[in-house]
Amino acid sequence: MENLNFIGGTWQAGASRETLPVINPATEEVFAEIVRGNAADVDAAVDAARKARAGWRATTGAQRAVLLRAIAEAIREASPQLAQLEVDDCGKPIAEARYDMADAVACFEYYAACAESLDEQQERPIMVPDERFDIKLRYEPAGVAGLIVPWNFPLVNAAWKVAPALAAGCTVVLKPSELASLTTLALARIAEKAGLPPGVLNVVTGLGHEAGAAVAAHPGIDKVSFTGGVESGRRVMEARAHRVGDVALELGGKSAALVFDDVDIDNTVEWLLMGSVYNQGQVCAATSRILVHRNVFDAVVDRLVKAMEQLRVGPGSDEGTHVGPLISAAQLERVGALVEQGVAQGARVVTGGGQPAHHTKGYYFSPTVLLDVSRDNVLWTEEVFGPVVSVTRFDSEADAVELANDSRFGLAAAIMSADPERCARLAPQIDAGIVWVNCSGPAFIQAPWGGVKQSGFRRGLGEWGMHEFLELKQVTEFQSAEPWGHYDIGRGGLA
Ligand code: NAD
Repeated sequence: MENLNFIGGTWQAGASRETLPVINPATEEVFAEIVRGNAADVDAAVDAARKARAGWRATTGAQRAVLLRAIAEAIREASPQLAQLEVDDCGKPIAEARYDMADAVACFEYYAACAESLDEQQERPIMVPDERFDIKLRYEPAGVAGLIVPWNFPLVNAAWKVAPALAAGCTVVLKPSELASLTTLALARIAEKAGLPPGVLNVVTGLGHEAGAAVAAHPGIDKVSFTGGVESGRRVMEARAHRVGDVALELGGKSAALVFDDVDIDNTVEWLLMGSVYNQGQVCAATSRILVHRNVFDAVVDRLVKAMEQLRVGPGSDEGTHVGPLISAAQLERVGALVEQGVAQGARVVTGGGQPAHHTKGYYFSPTVLLDVSRDNVLWTEEVFGPVVSVTRFDSEADAVELANDSRFGLAAAIMSADPERCARLAPQIDAGIVWVNCSGPAFIQAPWGGVKQSGFRRGLGEWGMHEFLELKQVTEFQSAEPWGHYDIGRGGLA
């Protein structure tokens, strides 16, 4: 078998010898298999990561940067093949897969620069009111990082965690999603060829409740960084709490787009599509609740529905595709069931609402717009993770903010308005980690990423992403020639 686990610099079959099928969501065909890794494989990976820890930690940021840049360059070279592999594995449109590859390259390059700047940040002095003491700050790698990632942006999700963890000097045990592991295994091959020392990056594939749970609970892992759904995040947190272990969670969302009556409607609808159907709506920060001012409600809904109906739904490998298949049969069923339930609770489908008729194979779901979605409707409260939006009216700024914040999630929000003062006034009032103004969905490696409330805590990306994998240490030195003298030893006090 081709897709083995990568542990301690060697490619290994899993301890169970069992495999999991890899299904192309556009054809429903099994085209590969991966290892069904278990706790024994995670043990081996943690062991390898612990052995590699001291050596990797002893490198300078500049030395690590050389390897991170080599990885970036190798991803760049293999981008066409990796993009196609991503499409086959998770269904996304090829144009979006190409963006993903560019994002992964940029991520490794960015954290190469961060690793270098870390060298300069070491030994920063802290001034204290007692000059006999000299205090310096050091950033130390957290140790072994356990990274658990989802399937919606497989290589990007992995890069966003692996690059900062390696830059910080951590060694890594990475568990990709069982639904899309192939580009992550390709990343391990790239890292191996780039000369990353054995054991610095380990990849164990497998199911969440087996390999994932083993990573979350492992006593040899110093820091867990998890991206995925709220329920899984809660289990990871419970497992970490048990051993008082550090954890960062990047979870789901139910983000709102607030559309005011001074917008250019075509421009706005362009962003509303970007915020809701990009990657088939399988985006944690998707703005799937669209709130529109009463004065432009009909016009925006009309334009949005027309645009949704013009989107080309088809295989991700077709260049013209806007919306590919969902990741799996289970996800298709889940999205369909949520829409059905929402309709049973009073919502009205204006377009879409089910599988497009012209596809006999593949997990396709038509871009869907719903109206009359009340606040207790499942389509208002739950993350759908499909190309499905609910559109609601509002009357005033205060209404819009109140509606936007009416969610247990708090990942992102988009404010669409031609009035800069209004945008500046509203941005601080939104309970979310990310507020987009006159856009929806863009993510930059340099800017912090993460949410509040049940969307998780802590921040990935930017300098904050690397600091997630660093521990702050104070080194305090007593520099006076005079003895300390509190017990008066040597002067007869405790003779
Ligand atoms: P998921 O929670 O089912 O799985 C995510 C990862 O966790 C997978 O690798 C899975 O195998 C593993 N896992 C599952 N149960 C586990 C357990 N008990 N212990 C340890 N690991 C476990 O999520 P998914 O379906 O792969 O991804 C979709 C979810 O991810 C959505 O809710 C989405 O919003 C969220 N997401 C969030 C962000 C963000 O940055 N906030 C980014 C992408 C996706």
